[in-house]
Amino acid sequence: MSEGEHDIVVVGAGIVGICAAAYLAEAGRKVTVIDRTGICEETSSGNAAAFAFSDVLPMAQKGMAWQAPKWLLDPLGPLSIPPAYLPKLAPWLWRFLRAGSPARHEAALAAQASLMRLAEAEWMSLMDRSATRRMLREAGSLELYESEGEFKASLPGWDERERFGIAFQHLTRHELPEYQPGLSQQFVRGTFVPGWKTVSDPKLLGKAIWKHAETAGATFLPGEVALIMPSGDRLTIQLRQGRTLRAQKVIIAAGAWSHFLARQIGDRIPLETERGYNTTLPVYAFDLKRQLIFSRHGFVVTPLETGLRIGGAVELGGLRRPPNYARAKAMLDKAKQFLPGLKTEGGKQWMGYRPSLPDSLPVIGRARGAGNVHYAFGHGHLGLTQAAATGRLIRDLVLGQAPAIDLSPFSPQRF
Ligand SMILES: Cc1cc2nc3c(=O)[nH]c(=O)nc-3n(C[C@H](O)[C@H](O)[C@H](O)COP(=O)(O)OP(=O)(O)OC[C@H]3O[C@@H](n4cnc5c(N)ncnc54)[C@H](O)[C@@H]3O)c2cc1C
Repeated sequence: MSEGEHDIVVVGAGIVGICAAAYLAEAGRKVTVIDRTGICEETSSGNAAAFAFSDVLPMAQKGMAWQAPKWLLDPLGPLSIPPAYLPKLAPWLWRFLRAGSPARHEAALAAQASLMRLAEAEWMSLMDRSATRRMLREAGSLELYESEGEFKASLPGWDERERFGIAFQHLTRHELPEYQPGLSQQFVRGTFVPGWKTVSDPKLLGKAIWKHAETAGATFLPGEVALIMPSGDRLTIQLRQGRTLRAQKVIIAAGAWSHFLARQIGDRIPLETERGYNTTLPVYAFDLKRQLIFSRHGFVVTPLETGLRIGGAVELGGLRRPPNYARAKAMLDKAKQFLPGLKTEGGKQWMGYRPSLPDSLPVIGRARGAGNVHYAFGHGHLGLTQAAATGRLIRDLVLGQAPAIDLSPFSPQRF
């Protein structure tokens, strides 16, 4: 192979691209990962660190659709849509609302549950192979409710999860301090999910997985991919910096920017970004026992090895608008109300771009116009959770093996 000739090029060094690279390198393929910033430096660097294997309900069914009107009234609430962005967003929103219809509900739920079963098995196995198990935290999660009404409204969702074998335990007000001391008295109920896991820091995990991929032979090339063109049985890849490469196969794992590249190969994929915000406080900010979930307020609090991370929210504002860090501050203020002993000084604010499809399922499959281009993007709120499973599935496809699960619900051509 000459200098410009490559076997497999992965575009994007977020957690999804890194996991795909690790699986392919382990299988003996020569992998080159191209990224314009670095290894897990963008959305995969600052997320809430959850391996949310039990989070099988698609967003449209998770109450977002019915809570949305109320949320939208609060300019710094859990959901916001800048009015100027609404016309561009309308087709995606329409598909999102349709995805919440009862007719599509069961299929999406079953697809998500099958991907989650694989996600858990693949992460545990990849962590063992890459010696990163020490980064796993198995303390479960605690979801909190401020009224009996809010708790009751959550019950159908828990019934759905129960059907898929997800264990949980509802808690009374009196049991809450045992699971998290120092909570405000305003919480009257909770649900503990023992199988929920977190990692000690998502960026450090991504970098450790990359080390493993590198040891297996993967290499990194800094650069921004401007163009991917099929040429004969190969692909030509042009970098914005002027260099041109050729590859036998390309994996597009460019997160919220993937649809720009997919369009060049003939697939129009309705990818949007759900921007999210957080603040990471110093580790000593609060003695947190496990991840706390405040669904009604659209944010979580996570204990990390590197700090205490408070954030979430959804801003459907596209890729170009500057961040509005007042959102991060609003969640921090609420967290102080919910955990009165929280020390709020010394925090670092962050915004990330969740890559989201309207049916809350990722795109994992072949391009329509080029059988040697594979897509691995659109994991929305669950990219960390589903990255290893996606790496496994991409490896199956590239090696021409039967995929570990039915991939039709994740087809790029489903829209
Ligand atoms: C606030 C928040 C909290 C979250 N919490 C969780 C959680 O607890 N658990 C969970 O599972 N998920 C969570 N997520 C979602 C998760 O972070 C994402 O789904 C995941 O990081 C997406 O990974 P990715 O590899 O697809 O994309 P990214 O991490 O965005 O990586 C894509 C990479 O592609 C590169 N790129 C793009 N275009 C090009 C190009 N043309 N050329 C070269 N490089 C390019 C970018 O530089 C980037 O590095 C959260 C997200 C947010 C915002």
